[in-house]
Amino acid sequence: MKPFALHRLKNDKQLSSIPHFSSSKFLAGGTNLVDLMKYQIEEPEQLIDLSAWHDANYINETDTAYEIGAMVTNTELANFAYSRSDLSLLSQALLSGATVQLRNRATTGGNLLQRTRCYYFYDTAKSCNKREPGSGCAAMEGYNRNHAILGTSKHCIASHPSDMAVAMTALDATVHTRNRAGEVRAIPVRNLYQLPEDTPEQETCLQEDELIVAVTIPKKERGVHLYRKVRDRSSYAFALVSVACTLQMDDHAIASISLAFGGVGVKPWHAIKAEGLLQGNTLSDDLLEQAAQAEIADATGFGHNDFKIPLLVNTMKNVVSTLAQFQQDHPTHQGAMYGQR
Ligand SMILES: Cc1cc2nc3c(=O)[nH]c(=O)nc-3n(C[C@H](O)[C@H](O)[C@H](O)COP(=O)(O)OP(=O)(O)OC[C@H]3O[C@@H](n4cnc5c(N)ncnc54)[C@H](O)[C@@H]3O)c2cc1C
Ligand code: SF4
Repeated sequence: MKPFALHRLKNDKQLSSIPHFSSSKFLAGGTNLVDLMKYQIEEPEQLIDLSAWHDANYINETDTAYEIGAMVTNTELANFAYSRSDLSLLSQALLSGATVQLRNRATTGGNLLQRTRCYYFYDTAKSCNKREPGSGCAAMEGYNRNHAILGTSKHCIASHPSDMAVAMTALDATVHTRNRAGEVRAIPVRNLYQLPEDTPEQETCLQEDELIVAVTIPKKERGVHLYRKVRDRSSYAFALVSVACTLQMDDHAIASISLAFGGVGVKPWHAIKAEGLLQGNTLSDDLLEQAAQAEIADATGFGHNDFKIPLLVNTMKNVVSTLAQFQQDHPTHQGAMYGQR
């Protein structure tokens, strides 16, 4: 690990006292950043340690929204979300990620901004445009079983790893930031992440001095929820494919649906085309097939990950039809499918 200067931040207003922000990184739980520094993939000259930023460890609830501080751990957030029927999708996604020990340490801000798990990104002996712009992409011709099929470019095909971000995409959350000059921004999670195009090293629209201070999620009736994660092991594994869905039926028609995918996109994937075809229409096998096909029309496999295309179609169809059937059987139920009735 290379030497670095360390600054401690006790509140977000202290950002203005940090002398500069070139070659800087915020350090939250450290479960991703410290690994990357040990591999010398991240080599910041200064770290801004957030561990004493206790003001950001809160969850507020108003009549219209939940506000989650950036330093709330994944465990705390999962426990809270489990207790709210319109948030239970978030709890399911968080509890499917990593392990208890990691969730106890990982934070809301850090989870959203964790880097990809592409093996070639972690292997400094291999070419990687995300790690070293312009060097090439070893994954294209390499072992790309875990890689993305949606939103890829000729420069990068890495998938986004966060389960929480997929749920937050389906729940239409907003990220709130503050920078060194004190300017604040509210960025919908759906707009936070960028496609790799020809700058895969730029993963989000955030600037180097821009700190995530909180995330808000609108309160609303969302019907029944399911986060289904398909992976190689039942724990301690990232998603090959995941589907986050909230669904409200009105008799046999879909009154409202929100759909997002993980493991398949270069960013948490908001399934806008599928939602548009399903919303307001009578659910049938044909309609589901049409919606899934519309969403994957632009999908590209790179050999080892070709299997993700049919896996995504089948997982999406299964999740939506399972939720629809469940809601018809339990018309008053709100929240996670396996939650209390
Ligand atoms: C073995 C293993 C298995 C895992 N499995 C899963 C899994 O199945 N699903 C899953 O979703 N995740 C998984 N993870 C990833 C884990 O969830 C992340 O490492 C964790 O969420 C990162 O949070 P952190 O607080 O430790 O972030 P850090 O490592 O501290 O930071 C990560 C990044 O976020 C930036 N950052 C942190 N906080 C802020 C802020 N407030 N504002 C701006 N930037 C900020 C940092 O600068 C850094 O770039 C796994 C990790 C490991 C090691
Ligand atoms: S897929 Fe992206 S992260 Fe992986 S090697 Fe290629 S450029 Fe690097």
